[in-house]
Amino acid sequence: MAKKEQRLHCSFCGRSDSEVELLMPGAEGCICSDCAEHANEIAKEYLNKKSAKGAEDIELGSIPKPNEIMQYLDQYVIGQETAKRYLSVAVYNHYKRLAQTVEDDVEIEKSNIIIVGPTGTGKTLLAKSIAKLLKVPFTIVDATVLTEAGYVGEDIESLLTRLLQACDYNVKQAERGIVFIDEIDKIARKGDNPSITRDVSGEGVQQGLLKLLEGSVVNVPPQGGRKHPDQKMIPVDTKNILFICGGAFEGIERKIALRLNQHVVGYGKNSEQQKVERERLLHFVAPQDLKSYGLIPEIIGRLPILTNLEPLSRDALLRILIEPKNAIVKQYKKLFEMDGVKLDFDQDALEYVVDKAIEYKLGARGLRSIVESIMIDAMFEIPSNGEKAFVVTKSYAIDQLTKSNFEVNKEIG
Ligand code: ADP
Repeated sequence: MAKKEQRLHCSFCGRSDSEVELLMPGAEGCICSDCAEHANEIAKEYLNKKSAKGAEDIELGSIPKPNEIMQYLDQYVIGQETAKRYLSVAVYNHYKRLAQTVEDDVEIEKSNIIIVGPTGTGKTLLAKSIAKLLKVPFTIVDATVLTEAGYVGEDIESLLTRLLQACDYNVKQAERGIVFIDEIDKIARKGDNPSITRDVSGEGVQQGLLKLLEGSVVNVPPQGGRKHPDQKMIPVDTKNILFICGGAFEGIERKIALRLNQHVVGYGKNSEQQKVERERLLHFVAPQDLKSYGLIPEIIGRLPILTNLEPLSRDALLRILIEPKNAIVKQYKKLFEMDGVKLDFDQDALEYVVDKAIEYKLGARGLRSIVESIMIDAMFEIPSNGEKAFVVTKSYAIDQLTKSNFEVNKEIG
């Protein structure tokens, strides 16, 4: 008599191992790969719903007030009072909109923000500091990598991939998140005329971005980059996503000056006068200037809050070295403290660092690399030479910086 073949079956769909791709045995039965996939989807959906419900439970009482947000930002960002005020209010209102549960006639619209300011003055730092405080998903993306669909670069929708990743692909949470788009000025239209030829990285990208800013359901490639036809897209509604854009808008002061009917900056003035004038003009930045710079009016209309960052003064740079919660000087002190060494910087050594950063036009970004060059030898030697205290004097700083070839490198670079 022929022996009856003992076949394993999926305990869920009943198919045998010859009918399915993969059959995985468990303690009491088996599951096939199809059922496992299906079960995974159901579980994901359930968990998504559960955590989305948690996200909806934002109570007005628990939201930090604008002045509390501002105080929080003060710990990390020196100066930039105007921008900090605008951001504090915008973030507070964003929470309020999310907390709005009663359906009534007054729907609070979101107010996306655009921050104009020279590079290295704290745009990204502001965004990052806010992210630390927030209870909503947050991501920073760079506008320069985006291009119009069909060209080399990333699809505009990939902006949202990062947001999805920030909340583990929980769509409901992502739909209430905040996206910081850096270098928005780099997608300005080149030249004043609407293009005759295609402007791959300019106007086309702005048109694409518009869709996201005004609020619509967009299909997001889960892995970012370029969409391809057989990829499963994730639909995301951007209605409640807050967009904060930042850009240096180099040269915008000329547009401002033209609008204000003033002399264009630069003619017959020395460089100090020019600098003061540029700083003064930036205060007057208005939506029209963004338009002259090459942003399309529809985009500007969707970024109703416009604020600017100040160039950093010598005093501000000095404060940046020592005051913020994670100030560079504090970080080095901590590093030395871990070896039982008390580290101090003389005031004139700090001023020297700031003067070098200004001299090499490195701004706040340069402070770290200058201090790093000064400290490298001490960091190498002190852990093993038994010293218990170390003071960085100005003459030590000068010696170290000269030795480190920092100046030579900066001149070459
Ligand atoms: P950007 O405006 O180009 O986005 P960042 O925010 O990246 O500039 O600033 C570069 C670095 O300079 C930051 O990491 C931070 O250490 C320092 N920095 C710049 N502006 C400030 C500021 N206003 N307060 C404190 N640190 C600052």
